[in-house]
Amino acid sequence: MNSLKSIALNISIPFFISAVQGSMLFYEDKIPKIIFSIVPYLFYAISVLILWVSWHFNRNRFIFIILPLLLIYFGFVYLGGKRATDLFLYASMLYPLHLLLFLSLKERGLFSIWGILKIAFFVVEIAVILYLVIYPNADFIALLKMKLFVISFYPLEDISIIIAILVIFIMVALVLFNRYLLYNSSFLVIAVTFYMGFYFIKTSYAKELSLLAIGVIIFILLIRESYRLAFYDELTSLPGRRALVEDMAKLGMKYSLAMIDIDHFKKFNDTYGHDTGDEVLKMVASKLAEVGGGGKAYRYGGEEFVLLFPSREVDESYKHTDILRETIAKSPFIVRNKQNSKTIYINISSGIVQKNSQDKDPFAVMKRADNALYKAKKAGRNQVVKA
Ligand code: GH3
Ligand code: MG
Ligand code: MG
Repeated sequence: MNSLKSIALNISIPFFISAVQGSMLFYEDKIPKIIFSIVPYLFYAISVLILWVSWHFNRNRFIFIILPLLLIYFGFVYLGGKRATDLFLYASMLYPLHLLLFLSLKERGLFSIWGILKIAFFVVEIAVILYLVIYPNADFIALLKMKLFVISFYPLEDISIIIAILVIFIMVALVLFNRYLLYNSSFLVIAVTFYMGFYFIKTSYAKELSLLAIGVIIFILLIRESYRLAFYDELTSLPGRRALVEDMAKLGMKYSLAMIDIDHFKKFNDTYGHDTGDEVLKMVASKLAEVGGGGKAYRYGGEEFVLLFPSREVDESYKHTDILRETIAKSPFIVRNKQNSKTIYINISSGIVQKNSQDKDPFAVMKRADNALYKAKKAGRNQVVKA
């Protein structure tokens, strides 16, 4: 399960945007009309920006999220009357499911087989809705408007409410248990914001405000995602070398650093295969991430990690590093293959140093930590050596 702290960190920004949107809706009569009149144009602008960025950086998931909203909005504006009401009915049921589907599909090139399937699926969705809007079928509409509850959620139909509960339930579960927290938390807020706009559709500017809020949430998600790509390691979810160098510069003179290397990892890879090796890296990373003493873990590269402690007390940092070494050494790792499964134990070695005035730059500190690590290896591995 994800920690409450990381959930809060990830959900706070989209939540804030949605809350601003909600309060603007609530205090609609106190806000000058001129502000609302530009909201649709802001929505167009941010949509175009999202389409352009997604296209250029191959994040086509976002194209499939924002484009239907643009189409729905155009539909509301240009269809009018009964047709707009029918569009509302279909969109309120289909879009949240569409959102959930595109959240779960992997990011792939638009012109790969999967990409083309996605496009085809999207085209079919549009065609079906267009057909239903232009040639309304009274029986089908009556079916979708079936009463299930005693109370009414008008203008949302009861089936929409069932879908809403289902989609939001799944998204909350993803936020709690799935590792792609950045995405899941934003998508949860997007779904809720969508329902706000649709539920209050009779209030002027409700749909425009909620669409704009969704656009802003997606745009910020795009920016945060590129930050993650640059600073975080994909396999272990730990920050990478670039983040390490920046953090070392921020800490200035006051830190100690432990360089960590898995023992005999090459042999492990050769015996059990590269994929199992990757699982070991994830396991070790997850233990290192729980380092005490205010320390922070980084994946330096390959099977090498760094712990950075924001204190000069190298003895204190040594203690925390050695606790981790022992925790990892005692954690059973189960290797499964076709016939049987086997329990093995992973060891790590570490060299730890305290930053001093002779160290000209972060690399000098790492070099000394590396020398200490080398000593730990020579002395028989599975130990931490202080420089
Ligand atoms: P030592 O105890 O001296 O550290 O021995 P070692 O075998 O761990 O040392 P060495 O540096 O020779 O081996 C590192 C190995 O780590 C080589 C490479 O195959 C493996 N490795 C590096 N990055 C990855 C990765 O991302 N995934 C996997 N599965 N293996 C990796
Ligand atoms: Mg190595
Ligand atoms: Mg090694």
